Amino acid sequence: MLGLMQQQPLLISTLIEHAAQFHGRTEVVSSRVEGDVHRSTWAEIADRARRLANALTQLGVGPGDRVGTLAWNTHRHAELYFGVSGMGAVLHTVNPRLFPEQIEYIVNHAEDQYVFFDLSFTDLIRELAPRLTGVRGFVAMTDRAHMPALDVPNLLCYEELLAAASPEYTWPVFDENTASSLCYTSGTTGNPKGVLYSHRSTVLHAWTACAADGLSLSARDSVFVAVPLFHVNAWGIPYAAALCGAKMVLPGPRLDGESLYRLMRDEGCNFSLGVPTVWLGFFDYIDRQRATLDLAELALARVVIGGSAAPRALIERFDRELGAYVIHAWGMTETSPLATIGMPLRQHAGLPEAERHALQSKQGRAIYGVGLKIVGESGESLPHDGVAFGDLKVRGPWVVERYYGADASALDADGWFATGDVATIDPDGYVQITDRSKDVIKSGGEWISSIDLENAAVGHPDVREAAVIGVAHRKWQERPLMLVVLKPGAVLDAPALHAFLAERVAKWWLPDEIIAVDALPHTATGKLQKVRLRETYRAHQLPTDTA
Ligand code: AMP
Repeated sequence: MLGLMQQQPLLISTLIEHAAQFHGRTEVVSSRVEGDVHRSTWAEIADRARRLANALTQLGVGPGDRVGTLAWNTHRHAELYFGVSGMGAVLHTVNPRLFPEQIEYIVNHAEDQYVFFDLSFTDLIRELAPRLTGVRGFVAMTDRAHMPALDVPNLLCYEELLAAASPEYTWPVFDENTASSLCYTSGTTGNPKGVLYSHRSTVLHAWTACAADGLSLSARDSVFVAVPLFHVNAWGIPYAAALCGAKMVLPGPRLDGESLYRLMRDEGCNFSLGVPTVWLGFFDYIDRQRATLDLAELALARVVIGGSAAPRALIERFDRELGAYVIHAWGMTETSPLATIGMPLRQHAGLPEAERHALQSKQGRAIYGVGLKIVGESGESLPHDGVAFGDLKVRGPWVVERYYGADASALDADGWFATGDVATIDPDGYVQITDRSKDVIKSGGEWISSIDLENAAVGHPDVREAAVIGVAHRKWQERPLMLVVLKPGAVLDAPALHAFLAERVAKWWLPDEIIAVDALPHTATGKLQKVRLRETYRAHQLPTDTA
């Protein structure tokens, strides 16, 4: 027997229409590429998304066509989120920090029909356009006065397109499983792979972001989106903010500590999201300007950190200096990305500070909709005792089934997706990511967590950032080598750092060597590039590796 309730597909257009109708006056504020701070509202975003849908229709874009973007976090990019997907086309957000050859590969692989770009990427478009043979036109996301001098086929002006289009548009209603957006994983080896989200997966995921034990985003929040709109749909925040009617603040190209600080202060942001490196820059600014800043002028109360492990030292700083609670979250492009979220349970009320920070250092619990398990080498499920660690597998309605263009499923025979991460799960369900499976250091048959060592190191007052890799060792197979970037003016005192670490990790985990470096390589999404580090130090001889 079927239920007798209305059938309404979960479509992205319903999010923006809800925001326009019930939160129409709530602001969307952007720091624009042109240099100004632009103020808009959900009603205006909806109006312009409808115009965009009309303009795209006139340009010949139809259902299922891919529309690429090379753009920062601005109101225009948000308009594309709703306009492109709402009309049934597929928004393909391209990470402009990738190498040009990778961008060329993914735009061609996705067969993007049009590419919308911010002025910052004019040179990139100039260089790439001749090789993007399937692209029918390039749209500069600006007004006529700021149009770049660029000789590419069919160069169009975003503001002119919108001005000429009607705001009257009836969003089409179609199957909620229709593709809505496409993101390619950065992929440390091989070509990037596309993850093709659907309207259904996107709306369900947005709901999760607004759930109390999700990210609890609500109409009372002013959310600062420091995670790029080209990084897994900004962790779903534009959709979630429309769903709940949160004020949304977008930093444009300005992700330096000072710009973040000022915009968050000026817009009363109480909630923010970003990868650890963004927050390191934020605190660098605070440290430099400490004497002149009144931190009480920041309203920040919740900060979501994900993308890489949030170092405990960062969690402590947010708590002690800003009174902000870090919600540590884990996910990946393939999981939309929200999968585990570090909200406390009832039993954690009144937890002593140190224990609370330890809890927050874990990556959180599975949210409804996400199934999780850890498995051993022969695929057997491992206990959730917080000690056993194994390959983390996930499944759920916003987890990938197969990559874009792939013939085969990305899942194992039982329908689980292997994340490539190694983790423990404790009896309360809190996941702790030990490492990417490729980054685990295998020493004498035991595993050492590079993430734990790195987090311990950045707790030292002289250390800004740390990376730990396994280096070949004749006796132990591999031993840890630690590379540290020191804070300005600090000098490496390796024995002192070693002693500091000895109080925090098991003795046999301690790095065999600590080297100070000027900078560490990062991927286009801000993660440590361990593959490159391992290549650089492949032939490195550790002082303990004596014949
Ligand atoms: P991406 O698909 O580029 O977002 O990368 C996903 C990967 O980032 C995951 O598989 C993890 O290895 C890593 N990651 C994401 N969030 C966290 C976190 N909170 N702690 C540790 N690693 C994380």
